[in-house]
Amino acid sequence: MYRHPFRHRPFNEEPGSRDPGCRLYGCVGTALNRRTLLAGFGAAIALPATRAIASHAPATYKLGALEVTVVSDGVLNVPLSFSLPETPLPEAAALFRAHGLPEAGSPSQTNVVFVKSGNERILIDAGSGPNFQQTAGKLQENLEAAGVAPDSITKVVFTHGHPDHLWGALDDFDDAPRFPNARYIISAAEWDFWTDPDTPSRLPDALKGMALGSSRILKAIEDKLERRKNGETLAPGLAYLATPGHTPGHMAVVIEDGGQRLIVGGDVLANTAISFARPDWRIGADFDRDQGIATRRRLLDQLASDRTPLIGFHLAWPGYGAVERSGTAYRFVPL
Ligand SMILES: [Zn+2]
Repeated sequence: MYRHPFRHRPFNEEPGSRDPGCRLYGCVGTALNRRTLLAGFGAAIALPATRAIASHAPATYKLGALEVTVVSDGVLNVPLSFSLPETPLPEAAALFRAHGLPEAGSPSQTNVVFVKSGNERILIDAGSGPNFQQTAGKLQENLEAAGVAPDSITKVVFTHGHPDHLWGALDDFDDAPRFPNARYIISAAEWDFWTDPDTPSRLPDALKGMALGSSRILKAIEDKLERRKNGETLAPGLAYLATPGHTPGHMAVVIEDGGQRLIVGGDVLANTAISFARPDWRIGADFDRDQGIATRRRLLDQLASDRTPLIGFHLAWPGYGAVERSGTAYRFVPL
């Protein structure tokens, strides 16, 4: 059976152990496209049988006249030493245990939000596609199982440019938009960061391949891509909220209708235990770890004060809940 050359690489392999472009944070992902398909592999190719539909059924919520549905892109495995490079790991394992989570901190969910707003069909983030981890990249199958065809999507709004949020913008052949009728939206600061030729040199070696992959994908959809700023309306009822730190141009999305409000938080609050109980822990995936802490604290305080519900991309499925104060920190309460 055909196996995609990049799909079966473990996430946590050591930098330099294989192709430079496929290190810790995935690969550049150019191996399979329609040209190579037509040029040689022919009818013998079948997509990997592992692309089964994830077990989570979509979860749907009403927000005024809007309909908000969480659809899974699968799960991700990230080594704890990568997530928390500055924290004693037994301390982290004890925190996970206390919250009933796997001590390894993985797998983590990938909760993609789909919004029906009038005639608009909006996705917030596009999942990771076929070139990141074998257990993820299942968004299209799960959308179709929920009755949502890729060509019905009118907008794809990115929270940030990491692979698990952006790389699914291209289809499984990696050379055409997965959502052919959609406009794509990213924050201007995020576009500037990922397309800056100096960005790979500002990242650790293990993440340089990620920067090259994200830059390549943004440029592949550039003619359909709009760059927006903090507070700008993205679609009726949806607006960006600047939440930098995880990446320089990271945006949450505020969804509002009929006097009700919901925040799609992207990766600001990315772990059901750590982000709430230990918001001051420095997170390995945050580009600016101090700014990540400040943004996290600001959002937690806001959500706990005004009781706005949250959907978090990596929180326990489906990632929908409220933030409550707990001692000097917080807790996530599923709704
Ligand atoms: Zn993420």
